[in-house]
Amino acid sequence: MYLYKVISIIKSCDEISIYRLEPTGNEKIEYKPGQFIMLHLLGEKKQTIDKRPYSIASSPSEPYIELAIKNVNGRFTSKLNAIKTGDLVGVEGPFGHFYFNNENKAAFIAGGVGITPLMSMLRHIIKNKIKGTYKLFYSCKTQNDILYREELEEMKKKGIEVIIFLTREETVPAGYEKGRIDEGRIRKYVKNPNEFVYFMCGPSNLVSSLKDLLIKMNVPETSIKFESWG
Ligand SMILES: Cc1cc2nc3c(=O)[nH]c(=O)nc-3n(C[C@H](O)[C@H](O)[C@H](O)COP(=O)(O)OP(=O)(O)OC[C@H]3O[C@@H](n4cnc5c(N)ncnc54)[C@H](O)[C@@H]3O)c2cc1C
Repeated sequence: MYLYKVISIIKSCDEISIYRLEPTGNEKIEYKPGQFIMLHLLGEKKQTIDKRPYSIASSPSEPYIELAIKNVNGRFTSKLNAIKTGDLVGVEGPFGHFYFNNENKAAFIAGGVGITPLMSMLRHIIKNKIKGTYKLFYSCKTQNDILYREELEEMKKKGIEVIIFLTREETVPAGYEKGRIDEGRIRKYVKNPNEFVYFMCGPSNLVSSLKDLLIKMNVPETSIKFESWG
C-alpha cells in the first residue's frame, strides 16, 4: 500500500464526488486503463480503518489518480465524507483484468457511475492519439446525472462517438437517446456488431442483460469484457 495525498475534491452530479490523489513519495502505482485500486481510509497511526475497491478514472499517464465516488451513505462512503484536501489515504493495487489493450474497434457501455473505468480508457485513447473506431453508450437517469458531461462533449470533437441514454426524462436533447440501451439502438450506431470489442461497467442487472443481448446478436463471448459492482 502506498500513501497518497488528496489534492482536490470536486462535488459533481448525482451525489458523486471526484477525488484526485497524488503520491507522497517516489513510489506510485502503475496501472492500465480500466483497472481499480483498493482505497484505504487511515487512522492516526496510518493504520487502515476501512477499505473499498474503486475504478481509476484518470489516464495512466497522469501524475495523479482520479476516482469518482458516489455517496450511497453506506459504511465506507459515509466515512469518506469526512476526508478533506490535504488528507492522506492508502492506495493498494492496481487490480483487475478489465482493461483496454489498444483494441482498434471498441464500444464502451456504462451505466451511472460505471463510467469511471471507461473514462480512463477514453482519456488514454485521446491522450495517446490511438487510431480506431470508438463509441460510448452511456446510460443515465436524467440530464443532471451525466458525469463528465463537458469532457464527453469535447471527446465528440476528437472522434469518439458519444451516445447518452436518458432513462427518466420525458424529452431528451438532440443527439441523445431516450430510454434504455437496446438491440435496435446498438445496431443503429454499430453496423457490424461482431467486429467490435465491448467494455461494459455498471450495475450487475444492466451488465448481465446487455451481455446476454450481445451474445444473442452473435458477438463472440471473448469480445465482451465487463465489470459489475453488485
Ligand atoms: C472493482 C470495483 C470498482 C468499483 N468502482 C467504483 C467507482 O468507481 N465508484 C463508486 O462509486 N463505486 C465503485 N465501486 C463500489 C464501491 O467499492 C463500494 O461498494 C461503494 O462505494 C459503496 O460502499 P459503502 O461501504 O459506502 O456501501 P455499503 O455499506 O457496502 O452499501 C450501502 C448500500 O448502498 C448500495 N450501493 C452500493 N453502491 C451503489 C451505487 N453505485 N448506486 C446505488 N446504490 C449503491 C448497496 O447495495 C447497499 O444497499 C466499485 C466496486 C468494485 C468491486
